[in-house]
Amino acid sequence: MAITPDRQPFIQPINAAWYENKVTGVDMLRLDVIHKHVSGNKWFKLKYNIEHCILEGIDTVLTFGGAYSNHLAATAAMANFNGIRSIGVIKGKYAEHSLTSTLQFCTDNGMYLHFVTNETYSKKNDPDFLKELSDMFATPLIIPEGGANEMGIIGAGEIADLIPADYTHIAVSVGTGSTLSGIVNNTGNELWTIGYAPMKGGSYLGKEVSRLIRPEKRDAYRIYDDWHFGGFGRYTDELTMFMNNFYGQNGIPLDMVYTAKMMFGLKEQILRGDYPDEVRILCIHTGGLQGNQSIADKLIF
Ligand SMILES: *Cc1c(COP(=O)(O)O)cnc(C)c1O
Repeated sequence: MAITPDRQPFIQPINAAWYENKVTGVDMLRLDVIHKHVSGNKWFKLKYNIEHCILEGIDTVLTFGGAYSNHLAATAAMANFNGIRSIGVIKGKYAEHSLTSTLQFCTDNGMYLHFVTNETYSKKNDPDFLKELSDMFATPLIIPEGGANEMGIIGAGEIADLIPADYTHIAVSVGTGSTLSGIVNNTGNELWTIGYAPMKGGSYLGKEVSRLIRPEKRDAYRIYDDWHFGGFGRYTDELTMFMNNFYGQNGIPLDMVYTAKMMFGLKEQILRGDYPDEVRILCIHTGGLQGNQSIADKLIF
């Protein structure tokens, strides 16, 4: 691929009083440093999709997302770097009239934005609708919302190679659940995975995800949705204050949509004593920092 990582991921111990004397360790795997525009799990989820296009001579990718989608931004950038055309099917006609910074970034990277109503968007996995899109845009590779196809899950599974054996728990944010599935499937049977869904009612994903998990590990993860802060993409002052404090203590920027809610949730769970003291937790920083542009005035970083 024509795009190379800016920096190799690394593990950083978290500096925070909230886990001292409660659990043995909380560290973070910094996937956010991989690339400025294709960060975190999106790098892993997209790499085999893009590679597939290059190998098969497919010159266009088409995918789906909302006005704040990290997946769209990452796809636009990755396609652009590799000389592949990209088309974004965008949820909500309203979004056309004043582009969010995410959608502006997508167009700046050459993505053609195709706005559809919420009703049309809900057909995003319907074969007839996909056929229609395929005809309209000259048979592109169609990547489902969030990059959640088989190539995406295989790529996400490679995140497991970066996880040393001495952790007892992994903490990871959940959107479609493909990153969580990739990690759970490719780590040892003793390792527990804690998923944090940043949307209301997100724990339903547990069932969806279950069919992607190898049978021996179906009881080795759990998805929580208690820390959605009002819903997907919503936030409160408490959350932005937490992000600023976390940055002050660790120099790590968290993203408002996913990883901030995960770390906030983990902190509350640890403080209330959910985990025994021998636990060593590795939190996955899945990137997505571009989404913070919409709240830049509230953040110190
Ligand atoms: C997309 C995204 C996720 C969700 O990943 P899934 O594989 O869809 O569950 C988590 N964190 C960040 C920062 C993301 O951008």
